[in-house]
Formats: sequence, structure tokens, C-alpha cells
Amino acid sequence: MNTDLPLSLIGPIISMIFGVSFFIVCCHISESRRYLWLVALAFFGFGLAATLQVLLIPQDIGKNIILSAALYTLGAQSLCEGLLQRSGQRLGSFTHILTAGFIMVVIYIFYYIDRSLIVRIFILNFGFGALFLMVAIRLRSLRHGRSIDRLVWWVVLVFSLHFFPRTLVTVKLHASTRAAFAQSPYWITFQVTMALFVAILAFVLLTAALVDVIDALKVDRDHDALTDLLNRRGFERQAKELLHQNAGDDSINLVVCDIDHFKAINDRYGHPVGDSILKEFARLLQNSLRSIDIVGRIGGEEFVALLPDCDKEAVFFLVERLRRQLQKKRYQYLPADHEVTASFGVAGRLLKEGLWDWFARADIALYSAKTSGRNRVFLHDRVAGILDRTPEHHE
Ligand code: GH3
Ligand code: MG
Ligand code: MG
Repeated sequence: MNTDLPLSLIGPIISMIFGVSFFIVCCHISESRRYLWLVALAFFGFGLAATLQVLLIPQDIGKNIILSAALYTLGAQSLCEGLLQRSGQRLGSFTHILTAGFIMVVIYIFYYIDRSLIVRIFILNFGFGALFLMVAIRLRSLRHGRSIDRLVWWVVLVFSLHFFPRTLVTVKLHASTRAAFAQSPYWITFQVTMALFVAILAFVLLTAALVDVIDALKVDRDHDALTDLLNRRGFERQAKELLHQNAGDDSINLVVCDIDHFKAINDRYGHPVGDSILKEFARLLQNSLRSIDIVGRIGGEEFVALLPDCDKEAVFFLVERLRRQLQKKRYQYLPADHEVTASFGVAGRLLKEGLWDWFARADIALYSAKTSGRNRVFLHDRVAGILDRTPEHHE
């Protein structure tokens, strides 16, 4: 296929360059994005297959057909698997072996036994089209995801569908020699669509990888590594967003919570035990509150929660239930009778008050809970001042 040789090599070379780019990206990106190795392999495989086909390497036509078909298939399967793995899915080795085996056997038969170029073209294109269509169907939930996920999905869908009309161009294929094939509408369409889709797919997938990395960094930035709760920055970001959305709503309460005598636990049982307790404590805090509540760890053993849509009685019901659950909880690293308690400061929202001024009022209530014996719930009320809201006969 040496007609217009340099032009024929543009698409394949671009594909291989993208393959190498994905390899380089993989080397600099975390373990969790291993799907990019498959994407890299796919682009490299496609590019190599087309290059070998154009340059007629190996020169024996039968071997060339088998080798390039194998590389195209490897590329298609790697891309399918990569796309699925990006969304936590898999195609499974059985399906891969079956698909590759079927395609290669048919290609072999229709070259060596019953020679037919048309059948080989149909098998490769319809096979790949069906494979990518199945991937698009399995990834359909991406249609409701972030903009980049929606873009990935639409590109995969269009890519899968383009194989079918492209194949129909072969109806006009009367290529008895390689030179005639190189001039045929099929080969020209193949080259144009390959270059186009390689560029679009690579651009979209590189962008998706970048967006994935940035989003993961944002999650890391806003979360506490030990407890997985929001950290101060994440809490502030989400709290401000919620307050902005509920600008005139004063049924929002802020709760500050601090573990009692935590230093003594650390001193007596060691820092790792303290860490484990913080983790379990945080989990209980998160599970005990509602999903609409914003919960964060803003200091060593100090936690904060913003409770929207919650009147005073509801707040005290939630906080008191939490206080009891914490007190009842037992930890495997501590003696069976060891109680870990916490003190709470609650403050209702004053419209126009800044988040951290509001927090300071809840913190004053917390300080009173500490000085009044700990394991208590205190309220900062703008009119009545500091009030002990712990039930009379609390355990
Ligand atoms: P109080 O009842 O007055 O709150 O007493 P406390 O001992 O809980 O409070 P204090 O502020 O004296 O001590 C807090 C301790 O929390 C000291 C610090 O070593 C410990 N701490 C802070 N961050 C971590 C952490 O990430 N892991 C562990 N294990 N301990 C921590
Ligand atoms: Mg403490
Ligand atoms: Mg503290």
C-alpha cells in the first residue's frame, strides 16, 4: 500500500504518539488510574497495526493481514477494557478471549481458505462496532454524570456507530490488487475516520484523565486523611454553600463537639490507639447524624456539624442521642468499662452572622460544657445566654 505513503502514515503515527503520551501520563499518575495503561496500549496498538499495514511489514500478505488484524483487535479490546475500568467495570478475560479468538479464526479462514476481503472487512468493523456499542450501553449511567463523563459517553457511542456506515462503503470495493485497495473509497474513508477518531478520543480521554485527577485532588484537599470527614477547609466550603442557598433560613444549628480527656487516652494507651478511637468516633458521628448534615473534623479531637432544617427540639434530640451513643460505645483497644465521652456546644443561626463568629458562640457553649463536668450539651442562646441542655438524669 505504497500510494501516498507519507499521507497514509499520518493517522497511524498520531495514534502511536498519543499511545506514548498516555504511557507518560500513566507513569506520573496514581495507581487508581491504571485504566490509562490500557488506553495507552490501545492507541499504540491501533497505530502500529495501521503502520504495519501501510508499510507491508511483514511482506507476506497473509501474515501481514493476520498480524495487523491481531493488533487492531488488541487495540479495540484494550480501549473497551480501559473505558470500562475507568468506571469501575470490567469485560472479563473470557469475553476477551472469545472475541479475539472468533475474530482471528474468521480472518484466517477468509484469507487462507475462502479468500474474501469484504468478509474480513465486515468482521473487523462489525465486530469492533458491536464491542464498542456494548461498552457504550454498559456505561450509559455516564449520561447523567459530569460534563466530561457525558462527553466521553457520546464520543464512545458515535465511535461505536461509525463502524457500521463505514463498512457499507465497501459495497463499492472492487479491489483485486493492493494498489487498487489503496485507492478504494473504503481505505480512504478508513484513514480519514481513523485519524479523526484517534484525535477526538485521545483528546477527550486525556481531558477526562485530567479532570479525574483534579477532582480527586479536590476531594483530598477537603477531607481529613485520618477520619475521612471534611477538614476545616472542606467544612467551610460546604457550610458556606449551604448557608448561601438558605440565606433567610434560621432553622440551621451549629454543633461543636470535643472528646473528653482525650490526652489521657493518648498518654495511657498510645497515639495509634488514639487514632483508632478518632476514626471510630468520627464514623459514629457521621452515622448518627442525617445525610443532609455537614460534618467535619476541625481540630485534633474537635468536630463540628452544621444541621440544616432543624428546630431547637430536633437539634437537642439529635445531639442527645449522639452523646448517649458515644458514651455507650466500646472500643476493642480499651478496657471493657472504659467510656469515651464528648462535650457539645450548640448555637442557633443568627442571620447575617459570619460562619466563624457563629462557631465562636458554639465554642463558648462547649467551653461551659467542659467546665461544668464534661459529657454535657450546652446551648449558646442570644437572649438567655448559656444554658445547660443535658437531660436532668443523664447517665
Ligand atoms: P478536654 O476534656 O478538656 O477536651 O481534654 P483533652 O485531653 O481532650 O484536651 P486537650 O486539648 O488537652 O488534648 C487534646 C489531645 O488530642 C492532645 C493531642 O495529643 C491529641 N490529638 C490531637 N490530634 C490527634 C490525632 O490526630 N491523633 C491522636 N491520637 N491524638 C491527637
Ligand atoms: Mg478534648
Ligand atoms: Mg480539644
